Amino acid sequence: MKTIIDFKCKKCGNCCRRGFVYLKEEEIKNISSFLKINTKQFIKEYTENILWLGKVLKFKNNKCIFLTDNNLCLIYEIRPYQCRTFPNWGWIVKKENWQEEIREFCNGV
Ligand code: SF4
Ligand code: SF4
Repeated sequence: MKTIIDFKCKKCGNCCRRGFVYLKEEEIKNISSFLKINTKQFIKEYTENILWLGKVLKFKNNKCIFLTDNNLCLIYEIRPYQCRTFPNWGWIVKKENWQEEIREFCNGV
């Protein structure tokens, strides 16, 4: 996979206000443990099911449920793989015009 060069997150939180955050089984367990709750409770309070995607993090007030008003991630240390790797996603960097698309909302590119 090609890596985006010179990317530096500016902590604007814009990527936490769009799309879906997919959760792997292992991430569900790890985040539940981080929050000191059981997985059943975590799933009920923090996730929703999307028919064709599976479990994703809930959005509240048009942002990820874990994003604070100061653009901080409440589960930063244990945030899902998808969050840790943005914007270096295969389908993004494969696109010819990825820079224009990502720059529309990401201040770090
Ligand atoms: S888990 Fe954290 S990094 Fe990922 S979308 Fe939510 S607030 Fe953003
Ligand atoms: S949109 Fe870009 S700069 Fe803003 S928080 Fe997300 S990765 Fe960082």
